[in-house]
Amino acid sequence: MASPLSSQASEIQPIAPETILHETFGYPQFRGPQQAIVEHVVAGGDALVLMPTGGGKSLCYQIPAIARQRAGHGVTVVVSPLIALMHDQVGALHEAGVDAAFLNSTLDWEQTQEVERRMLRGEITLLYAAPERVNTPRFLSQLDSLRERGKLALFAIDEAHCVSQWGHDFRPEYRALTVLHERYAGVPRIALTATADALTRADIVERLQLEEARQFVSSFDRPNIRYTIVEKKEATTQLLRFIEREHEGDAGVVYCQSRKRVEDVARTLADAGINALPYHAGLDAAVRQKHQDRFLRDEGIVMVATIAFGMGIDKPDVRFVAHLDMPKNIEGYYQETGRAGRDGAPADAWMAYGLQDVVNQRRMIDESPAGEEFKQVMRGKLDALLSLAEASDCRRVRLLGYFGETYERPADAGPPQDGRGPLGGQRGHDVPSVGATCGNCDNCITPPQVWDGTDAARKLLSTIYRVQQQSGISFGAGHIMDILRGKTTEKITQFGHASISTFGIGSEFSEVQLRGVLRQLIAIGAVAVDAQAYNTLQLTDGSRAVLKGETQVMLRESITSPADRKPRREKAARGAPSPAAAALDANGQARFAALKAWRAEVAKEHNLPAYVIFHDATLASIAERAPATLEDLQGISGIGSKKLEAYGSEVLRVCSAF
Ligand code: ADP
Ligand code: ZN
Repeated sequence: MASPLSSQASEIQPIAPETILHETFGYPQFRGPQQAIVEHVVAGGDALVLMPTGGGKSLCYQIPAIARQRAGHGVTVVVSPLIALMHDQVGALHEAGVDAAFLNSTLDWEQTQEVERRMLRGEITLLYAAPERVNTPRFLSQLDSLRERGKLALFAIDEAHCVSQWGHDFRPEYRALTVLHERYAGVPRIALTATADALTRADIVERLQLEEARQFVSSFDRPNIRYTIVEKKEATTQLLRFIEREHEGDAGVVYCQSRKRVEDVARTLADAGINALPYHAGLDAAVRQKHQDRFLRDEGIVMVATIAFGMGIDKPDVRFVAHLDMPKNIEGYYQETGRAGRDGAPADAWMAYGLQDVVNQRRMIDESPAGEEFKQVMRGKLDALLSLAEASDCRRVRLLGYFGETYERPADAGPPQDGRGPLGGQRGHDVPSVGATCGNCDNCITPPQVWDGTDAARKLLSTIYRVQQQSGISFGAGHIMDILRGKTTEKITQFGHASISTFGIGSEFSEVQLRGVLRQLIAIGAVAVDAQAYNTLQLTDGSRAVLKGETQVMLRESITSPADRKPRREKAARGAPSPAAAALDANGQARFAALKAWRAEVAKEHNLPAYVIFHDATLASIAERAPATLEDLQGISGIGSKKLEAYGSEVLRVCSAF
């Protein structure tokens, strides 16, 4: 079967986007807004695409690139910040029979020249380049030359949120991409991102001068991801238990704040027999690349990482993303958790959250050299995340609400669990959820008890006040709680704090409860933590309303420990079967296993991740169909004409053994 893509200028003939979807990528239909986007861009329109991770952004520029190349318009330049992933991205296109190449610092001089020559001849369909390269005089003059000959088909700007300082991956080089618009006016541009709060979106439009571009905004819901936020006690132990109970043998990502913590946690997990690897910017570049390759190429690796890891990682079968420390804001949280379950199968987003996270994040903002206006925005964003963490109603409703979306439960999602009304609603981005529930977050599955912590909050605040009055200095959380609970510690004796009028008046509260109250008081700004003075507690302007009983403080009961939770899916005796293959009979399972082994060999030979050859879901469909002829393989999602030609007979051979 001839590849439809040998693109010589002499054989110009337009090709319908749908044909490319079927023949090149082997997919039966477009997903969500893909078709509208593709048609708009093929016709030469500019577009801004906001789609969640896993939504299928790549096809939105790859299909127009192929279509425009076929129509004689030449090369599409893809701007991407992800040098370490370009090799695999281009490899995936080659597997599908598409002419693609990258230009980056990993190529030597000769390789670079070869790619440049092919690009200048207009032979390449998709050329990937980092933003810093796009702005070099050499590259610009090459683009000029293409442009003069009408061979510059399209600019695709991937990870477009990198242009905004409000995003979490700000790259100053992205700012200079306005050159594309100014120097090559008339060449269509498509910018894509999975980050979409209103502020970042507006910034992207302004910075990239996309005012005229049509905006395509998808729903940001990721229905297969289950959100869980637990109270942090012994974070690493909690994480271990979570992995052992629910994700044994699965691939996952664990996010930690600091490099040191990454190293520690990776070691602890490895000691417990989990295939864990560390990743952070302090590691040697070669080690980083090696760990990333292993994560992408081997099965069941847990990557313990700082946020330096993950952008552009398109591994489809990441089964969980865990946060051991709280991120800075909901955008970061959503982006990071979004790396789970791109294949649409069940996946977990799990976070442990505690008082120290609140204190740390506030301090990082306070101590940053940024201007006051910027800090104010950052505080607002942190508040929104805190109120998500403290929430006792549906996490999904809140998350989507933050991105300006009203959650609607799909008709086929089953009966909603009995959810509670929204919590207190102190501040920030609270949404009028009217008790909407998704049935797939911790709060919907096990609605937490809510208790009125107003009285405890007032007692805490007045203790802070009285201690300060009596001693002239402030104290930390532990000491304040000891006074309130009427403990007689050495420190209390030393400072004579047993004589304070609030001593012991909070003895009915447990330390866990008081910690929760304090966390919430800090979260709503009614207590400040002075990082310059041993993390002592201070009253603020916001304290008054609580003291006077004007602000109600509602709290969730200490969250059910994971041990009380039923594991979600029963695992096979050894190793979890891929969710894609769960429905196969014994023969099907055997074919699936054989196909996976065959795929591993091919992937290794081609130096690519296995999922680039075929997804698990594609192998599962093959195993189910038990094909005897090439025709039997036709129409299976994920088998395009190039892959059918390259692998069809091998696949039949592997299956014929059963
Ligand atoms: P994003 O870049 O938006 O995170 P990708 O472009 O990597 O998402 O797509 C996510 C997954 O969905 C990929 O494995 C891709 O092959 C698959 N996919 C995309 N569009 C379709 C479609 N129309 N039909 C079937 N699978 C698709
Ligand atoms: Zn929910």
